[in-house]
Amino acid sequence: MTVQTIEVKLSESKGEKPLAEELQFGRVFTDHMFIADYCEEKGWTDHRVVPYEPLTLDPAAIVFHYGQTVFEGLKAYLSKEGKIRLFRPEQNMRRMNQSCERLCMPQIDEEFALEALKQLLIVDKDWIPKAEGTSLYIRPFMIATEPYLGVAPSTKYRFMIILSPVGSYYKEGIHPVKILVENEYVRAVDGGTGTAKTAGNYAASLKAQEVADQKGYSQVLWLDGVEKKYIEEVGSMNVFFKINGEVITPELNGSILEGITRKSIIQLLKHWNIPVIERKISMEELKEAHANGALEEAFGTGTAAVISPIGEFNWQDEKFVVNEGKTGELSKQLYDTLTGIQTGTVEDPFNWGV
Ligand code: PMP
Repeated sequence: MTVQTIEVKLSESKGEKPLAEELQFGRVFTDHMFIADYCEEKGWTDHRVVPYEPLTLDPAAIVFHYGQTVFEGLKAYLSKEGKIRLFRPEQNMRRMNQSCERLCMPQIDEEFALEALKQLLIVDKDWIPKAEGTSLYIRPFMIATEPYLGVAPSTKYRFMIILSPVGSYYKEGIHPVKILVENEYVRAVDGGTGTAKTAGNYAASLKAQEVADQKGYSQVLWLDGVEKKYIEEVGSMNVFFKINGEVITPELNGSILEGITRKSIIQLLKHWNIPVIERKISMEELKEAHANGALEEAFGTGTAAVISPIGEFNWQDEKFVVNEGKTGELSKQLYDTLTGIQTGTVEDPFNWGV
């Protein structure tokens, strides 16, 4: 994306904005979207903000058959002063390019993509909900559009950004969830695509989530794909444990997605002089820490929930409750600090807000 102009075509009608209390996740979309097209001869062209509408694609487009697609997820907030705030958006653009690299897709100009996002946000600013805990979810994504049934990288792509107003993840305040440790299915393996945000990883996760839902658990804890011994992620979040005063998160091993919330939490903990380590941690170790009373807190981290405290694990039909099923002090402190930085109500020592 080197051409530095973005054409804007405004929608003639305005969609109805949902009431704050009716907001869900990812069901309603704003009036506009950003599009850029790529072909091998010309690179990225036709950058435009246009009315939100369905796409016309060839049924043979590679994305439909072989899943050559990547996406990102981040949020915009409206500050008390009415300014649009983003949280580390350059990190999302960078990760998008890393995903593209893994899927043999073309790189985007990260700075220009951020500029395009800002323009789109200005056009649809009225859609950013104002109530506490609400935000505008941003979904940049790229699809392979060449009509071809051969298994090969596409020569044509489309990069798009769509926006969706979302409600508070915690309508009744931050609360712990129950987690089923997944012993059959795996999310990703070293050398696979787990480190990329690509559709196939999420399609592959649905079956385990279905089983967890049926058993009354809200998410699954993913174990490594080789021995099913070491902890990797929880649902579509990274995972942290506080054991004997030390915070542990699985080290990046080639199958874990490097979350931006994860990275931010590690930086915050170091800033607060709280011991934090990235290393392998097995289910056996977690069970033992729980048995010894050393497991103080467990929580998932990601853009959607920010922090999701874990109140109970079920591992091979053995249940163990963490922190009496209550939200831990550190989980709450991290949640308040990160959401405060995101909305601009808490000092931002790292200049993460844009
Ligand atoms: N792991 C997976 C598999 C995810 O989909 C996400 C959400 N992007 C995360 C972790 C958390 O990443 P982030 O903190 O950047 O939202």
